Order: sequence, then C-alpha cells, then structure tokens
Amino acid sequence: MAESSRPQERPARSIRFRLLAIALLPTLVILPLLLGIAIARWNAKFDALLITKVNGDLTIAHQYLSRILENTGEHIQALAVSAAFRDTVGSSEMPLLPAFLERSRAKLGLDFLMLVDRQGQPVNTAGLPSGAWPVVATALRGTSSTAIDIFSIEQLAALSPALAARAQIELVETPNAVPTDRKIETRGMVVHSASPVTLANGEKAALVGGILLNQNLVFIDTINDLVYREASLPEGSKGTATLFVEDVRVSTNVRLFEDRRALGTRVSAAVRAAVLDEGRTWLDSAFVVNDWYISAYEPIVDSFGKRVGMLYVGFLETPFRQAKYATLLTIVLAFLVVTAISVPIFLRWARAIFKPLERMSDTITRVEGGNMGARTELKAASDEIGRVALHLDGLLDQLQQRDRELRQWNEELNDRVAERTSELELANRQIEATTKQLIMSEKLAAIGQITAGVAHEINNPIAVIQGNLDVVRSVLGARAEEAKVEFRLIDEQIHRISQIVTKLLQFAKPEEYAGYVERHAPSNVISDCLPLVQHLLHKAAIKLVRDDKATRLVLMNRTELQQVAINLIVNAIHAMPKGGSLTIRTLDQDIEARPGVVIDITDTGVGMTPELIGKIFDPFFTTKRQEGTGLGLSISQRLISRQGGRISVQSAPGKGTTFSVWLPEAS
Ligand code: ADP
Ligand code: MG
Repeated sequence: MAESSRPQERPARSIRFRLLAIALLPTLVILPLLLGIAIARWNAKFDALLITKVNGDLTIAHQYLSRILENTGEHIQALAVSAAFRDTVGSSEMPLLPAFLERSRAKLGLDFLMLVDRQGQPVNTAGLPSGAWPVVATALRGTSSTAIDIFSIEQLAALSPALAARAQIELVETPNAVPTDRKIETRGMVVHSASPVTLANGEKAALVGGILLNQNLVFIDTINDLVYREASLPEGSKGTATLFVEDVRVSTNVRLFEDRRALGTRVSAAVRAAVLDEGRTWLDSAFVVNDWYISAYEPIVDSFGKRVGMLYVGFLETPFRQAKYATLLTIVLAFLVVTAISVPIFLRWARAIFKPLERMSDTITRVEGGNMGARTELKAASDEIGRVALHLDGLLDQLQQRDRELRQWNEELNDRVAERTSELELANRQIEATTKQLIMSEKLAAIGQITAGVAHEINNPIAVIQGNLDVVRSVLGARAEEAKVEFRLIDEQIHRISQIVTKLLQFAKPEEYAGYVERHAPSNVISDCLPLVQHLLHKAAIKLVRDDKATRLVLMNRTELQQVAINLIVNAIHAMPKGGSLTIRTLDQDIEARPGVVIDITDTGVGMTPELIGKIFDPFFTTKRQEGTGLGLSISQRLISRQGGRISVQSAPGKGTTFSVWLPEAS
C-alpha cells in the first residue's frame, strides 16, 4: 500500500509545479525576457542616437571651420583687389604698406598679414619667408588659396613675438595619452590664406594672412555656441569643442578645473591612433580629460596633405546615462510593482486548482491506508474540480458502505461457522457418548447371554449335590449329628453358590429377575446389610461411623438396594487393608428440583486416579486379581439407574473415596 501511494505523490507535486510554472512563467520569465530584449534594443538605439547626434555636431563644427577658412580667404582676396591696396602698392617704394597692412589686419581680425614677393620674401615688413608654403606658391601662380598649416615657433616669432608666446602651451600630464618627453607645445595651428597681387612694377606677389588657432578662445567658444546652442542638450550635460595640434589640446572649452581650460592635455592613445595615424573619424564614448563624453574627432589635414591635428566636439555622457538609468529604473520598478501585484493573484488561482487536487490525492492515500472515513470535504468549490471532489466523496461513501456491509457479512459468516462448529462438536460428543453406551450395551448383552447359560449349567449340578446330601443325611440318620457342623457348612456353601448364580442371572437379565419394588427407608436397609460385613470390618480393624438424616422413603426392590450397599461397603473395606474409617451417611437431597435421598459411603483408603475412575463402571474391570469379579460397580449402576437414580464418585489417590448414590423419593 505504501508502495502504491508513493508514485501517486509525484503527479500531485508535478501538477503543483506545472500550475505554478503556468502561473508564474509569463510574469517572472517571459515578461522580464521581453523587457530585457526591448531594453537592450532601446539601449542600443539610444546609444546609436547619441552617436548620430555627436556626428551631426561634428559636421556643424567642421562646417564652421571651413567657413572660417573661406572667410579668411575671401577677406584677403577682397583686400588684394581693393582700390586702397592697389593705391598703396601703386608706387615702387610702397611707403604706406606697413601701416596699411597693419590697419587691414586689425580690421579683418587676422593675426598676421603680409605681402610676399615672387621669391616668397616679405616685402617692406618684418615677416616670414613663405615661398615654401603651398598656399603661397599657389597664390604666386595666380590662384587664391586657403589651408591650415602648422607654424614652428621660429616662424611664429618671425611674424610676431606675441604670436609665438600665444602658441606656447605647457604640456599637462594626461593618463591614457601616448607617453612623451616633451614638456611644451610650441607649434602653432594657423588658418593660412594667400591671394595673388601684381605690384606696380608688374611683378607677381602674394598677400598672405592668417589666424593663429592656438588659444583662440573666441574661435573655439563660437564653435561650441554654434554646435551646442542653449537647450540643445539635456540639463546637466555640457557641450565641448577642442582643436588639437597633433594630440595636444591647443584650444578648448573643456575645463581642467572650474576656471582653467584643459590646454596642454593630450588625447588618449586610442583616439590618437584611430584619428591621426589611421585618418578615421572617431565616433564613440571617450574619456576626455576627467569625464566620459560622447565624442567625435576628425583629423585636420594641412596644405601638405599631412594629418597635423584634430577637431573635436562632444557632450558629457553622464546626464544621458542618468536619464537612461532613470528610465530603466522606472521600467524595472514598474515591472516589480506589476509582479508584486499579479504574482500573488496568479498564485491564488493556481492554489485554487492544485490544493483540491492534492487534497483528493491525499484523501485517496488515506483511504488506501485504511482510513475509510477520509473525505475531501471540498463542498464550497463550485467549479469542475469541486464537482470531481464531490463525486469522489460520493464514491468513497459508497465504498465505505460496501466495506461495512462486507465486514458485517463476514462477521455473520464467522458467527455462523462458530455456531455450526459448536453444534458439530456437541453432535460429535453425543455420538461418542452414544457409541460408548452402545458398546457397553453390546458388552452387557453378550455377558447376559453367556451368564444365563453358565448359571443354568451350575444350577443343575447344585441341585444334584443338594439332593444327594439330603440322601446322605437320611441314610446316616442319628449318626448325622456327628458331622453336623460339616453338613451345615456344606449347606451354607451350596446356598451361597445358588445365591451367586441367582445374582448372575439377575445381572444378566435383570427384568426377568426383578422382584417387586417397595418403599424403604434407606437407613433401615443399610442397617440390615451391616451384619453381613461385620466380620470383614473386624478383620481389617475399620471404624464404622453412621450418620442417618434421611427422612424420605425410596422405591426399590429391597434385595437390590442391599446388593448395591454391600458392593460399595465391601469395595471400601478392600480399599482399607490397613484399617481406617468407613462413614455411611444418608441425607434428603433434591436433584434438578426432584426430591430424593442420597447415600454417601466414604472410606479413608487408597483412593483412585481420574484415569482409574474412568474405567471402574466397566463390567469385569477390576484391580483385584483373585477376589475381584469387576462386576460390583457395573451391576450397582444398572440397578440404580433402572430406578431413575444415579451413582457418582469422588476420589483422591492416598486420601480416600466417596461413592454417592441418589434415589428419587417414593411418591
Ligand atoms: P471388584 O470389587 O470385584 O474389583 P468392582 O466393580 O466392585 O469390582 O470394583 C471395580 C474396581 O473399582 C475395583 O477393583 C477397585 O479397583 C475400584 N474400587 C471400587 N471401590 C473402591 C474404593 N472404595 N476405593 C478404591 N478403589 C475402589
Ligand atoms: Mg467389588
């Protein structure tokens, strides 16, 4: 039973788990999974959008830089063809040139402006020999041209010591940058423009001007303001723009501290490698000076086609990241709230299904375990499961009823079997008793026939002996007196023989020999017997005690009653060869509401074992080899029972024996 109930537990538990899975899978697994996928996609899109934005920013910055280049070129070109300039260079001496150039430089917001001759040598002013610059060479060939160029400190100093000083920037140690031994950046990044002019003497020359971009904060702040106009970035974010000479920040609005710009810091090695070495545009998150920025870098190429610097724009990533995290947090919190509200509801629903199922399974297990009264008792549930449970309870009721009936039938059957068995036992005992009686009757009948024959055979010789004895006596006449005693003895013995024969015949066919019955007082009959056994009592030195209390009379043939008494007294005497006491008691006694008299004959002799008692009423059973006939008790029993009485015995070995004869009262 335990084995069969164990596998039953499994499906119940698996149903519980399956239901829980069904209830919780959508909320706890599928929803988070979908959310995760959506968030990941949104995150990627968000990042891509930021990159797109910074790329757009870089385009604006790039256009602004191009615009500056164009403007510078246009200004110088306009100046070159202006009437004022032509007037100034009209004379061969050009005495007004320096003042004019200085005035025009200031007016156009240039950092330097000079006139160079065919060989590229400055005319009439301090300046820079410029023939080697491609921009100037192009102009000398007749075409205006503008480009960005890097000027060395000497070249800058040749133009103006102030420019050289402005270009100088001390390097600041920057983590992640390519290591360097340099301590100072002296090169200047210059927007460099040249326009062809023809001098008074007809010689070709070029008007060369430019702007130094190093520490040109107006320039960089303008880019920044253009790119990151107010409210173009979320609150907290900050737009930045930077110009690099090689990897050194020479003009920037990125702050190192609150009031110091990060001039002299250098770009990270990764950006440098990608932009300067490989010439790619960098669009990514990058660590700029001291924070993460969504960054865009592009290389700046000089008039020799060399990558000499970078243009950078970017904005602080943190506010975007924070906004992103805030959104994520909102989503996760919303999910948690939804889960916290819905999961208990789902669990309740699942419970409402698996609880009754488990209850039913449990009930069945208990019933299997022998508790026939176990029920699900799920009366409240009105759904299908409730109905199944109700049905189960109904079936279990029927089962219990059948079980009860079966048990009842079983008990009845058992009772009936026990009844029949005891009846059979009784019948068996009766059969046994009947058989015993039959055997006894058979035996007695056989004995009767034999004895009758033998008695007749003895009676005849005795009659002959008696007759002949009488003859002898009459022949002897007076002389018979001499043998008087012997004759008397012979007479007595003959009488005795005939008595025994009579008794035998009586025993064999008691009905034929039964004399008439009379009323007797048992005590009197016993008193008449005593002289017959007196000599035996004397011989064995037995004390006789009498106790006669019987007042009732019994109905029996006197001789037969005497015979019974003598048999019992003689047996008692035989049981006490070394003396003892013999008690004879008579008493009025009712048996089964029938009035009667009991005669007890008690000795203090050898006694009998129960086994012996079982045999003593059998005819011819005796323990006395010589003296015994074994007939005394069986004859006595026959005589007593013929009168409706009974004989019983009580005995203990070594203690003595009591025979009790009960006879009904004579009515
Ligand atoms: P018998 O006296 O010839 O032996 P009974 O029928 O009178 O035959 O007795 C049968 C046997 O019962 C006796 O042999 C004896 O063993 C036993 N018996 C009868 N009466 C007594 C008694 N009072 N005490 C002990 N044994 C007895
Ligand atoms: Mg006897």
